[in-house]
Amino acid sequence: MALGRYVSWFRRLCGPTAPTVDEGVKSEGKLAKVFSSEEDCGSRESLKEVAERIAKEFEFSDVDVRRAVDGFVKQMNEGLRSHGCTIEQLPSFITELPTGFEKGTYLAVDLGGTNVRVCSVTLEGDGTFSLIQGKSAIPTVWMTCDNPSGLFNWVANFVHEFLEQNYPDSLTTAGTEDAQIFSLGFTFSHAVHQLDINSGNLIRWSKGFNIDGVVGQDICALLQNAFTELALPILVTALINDTVGTLLARAYASPKSVHTVLGAVFGTGTNGAYVEQTSKISKMTGSRTGEKGIMIVNTEWGNFDQGMEYLPTTSYDKTIDAGSVNPGFEMFEKRISGMYLGEILRLVILSLVQDPKVDIFDGVAISEMLKLRAKWGLDSSFMSHLEGDNSPDLSLSRTQIEKCIGMASFQDAQAIRIISHAIGRRSARLGAVAVGAVIVHTGCLKRGEGEGRVDIGVDGSLIELYPGFAAELKAALGEIEEIGEGEERIDIVVTKDGSGVGAALAAHVAAKRL
Ligand code: ADP
Ligand code: MG
Repeated sequence: MALGRYVSWFRRLCGPTAPTVDEGVKSEGKLAKVFSSEEDCGSRESLKEVAERIAKEFEFSDVDVRRAVDGFVKQMNEGLRSHGCTIEQLPSFITELPTGFEKGTYLAVDLGGTNVRVCSVTLEGDGTFSLIQGKSAIPTVWMTCDNPSGLFNWVANFVHEFLEQNYPDSLTTAGTEDAQIFSLGFTFSHAVHQLDINSGNLIRWSKGFNIDGVVGQDICALLQNAFTELALPILVTALINDTVGTLLARAYASPKSVHTVLGAVFGTGTNGAYVEQTSKISKMTGSRTGEKGIMIVNTEWGNFDQGMEYLPTTSYDKTIDAGSVNPGFEMFEKRISGMYLGEILRLVILSLVQDPKVDIFDGVAISEMLKLRAKWGLDSSFMSHLEGDNSPDLSLSRTQIEKCIGMASFQDAQAIRIISHAIGRRSARLGAVAVGAVIVHTGCLKRGEGEGRVDIGVDGSLIELYPGFAAELKAALGEIEEIGEGEERIDIVVTKDGSGVGAALAAHVAAKRL
């Protein structure tokens, strides 16, 4: 279960405790296997060959990429026409992009998959901003519980502390004539059926969250109620997805000559929001039907291809899905995002250690490899360390492996790197399917007389910190027929603080409408 990952992560933070042990993992030693494997010594593959064979299972060819892009565009169109599709295409009710001239101070709360951040953002009106922020890991007890307001009350208390530290006057004047009331943009990274710019009902939890009684509720109202209970001088004026925030923040900061078309997140989860023609969102009823102009649409692409027509599947992917809190959902995300990559690698290494035909870790017993046995025991950052190791003797990888698993020989490190690279590469190429499909669907490369640049804001630890992830993604974009050499005109720009600044920009847009 995803919860296990958070629990073990928290345990690592809070001090040494026995890790959760994967069910079904026997703690038999490796020695017996080594003896039995000697019988077929002559025909045995080397460890490197085994690793290369497994790496092949993670290949996602250029043909696969193109096919998946076609499928992705098809599912995007379905989502624009009807509700409840695999790619949900959720309207954000944000109908303009920032120009860079916006000004004012706004609060923002970003409830991520792992952390909550509260910030005050001052937009300077020239594409720049200043920001004060507080950040805290979300306590696991509030991620899966049966108290619908527990998480929101915890967030409100955190915001209270933030105001006490940074804007103490706002608390003492609350309720008086001099009261300063903050507009707050709320960035929320689970699927929401948005009803307006400042309200939306939760469709489902993702990323290991599962709090009873919140699905179907207006999450803005839940947060506003929590603020009101503490008498905080705050109005929740805008609700955005973190990908919408990334798009807004990038559009604010980008040069005026470029068009920002997409905000994408590759962090705990993966998702993207893009600029759509409002007239194409035919499922929207009411006054907006047939409206001219643009609207930002949150794709919720983590759930692409629920029917599994285009996605690759290994036995490790199946194990991850079966043990997740949402089997059968978010199959795309489960092959791409930071929450899952380390776990895929752990499952592969575990299978090698358990295979009597494979000599790895010098026959050390599994019972001695606590992190390898613990579900979610390997974080995706481990893979970044391996990927970034350019030392000829793989000394950096060996040190990392020693820290996370156990003593590793050069051959062990070489094999693990080969597999880790293949898992990371597949993730980046799948990421290119989503980004490429948005480029193809919007036709943005065709605009601008062939010279115009396509601008994409990205956020998330995976794309920011995994060496070569963005480059691999871009290279795969070039393999898409409709993009080809146009890939050189695509800029993928890490947009730091995207969700905080984006929420402030959304609050700015909302304030203009009041
Ligand atoms: P959030 O999703 O809460 O906004 P992040 O964008 O920081 O937070 O993403 C956290 C995810 O990124 C975790 O799943 C973690 O495993 C992964 N991650 C953190 N550091 C790295 C790294 N150096 N390389 C690859 N993945 C990382
Ligand atoms: Mg984030």
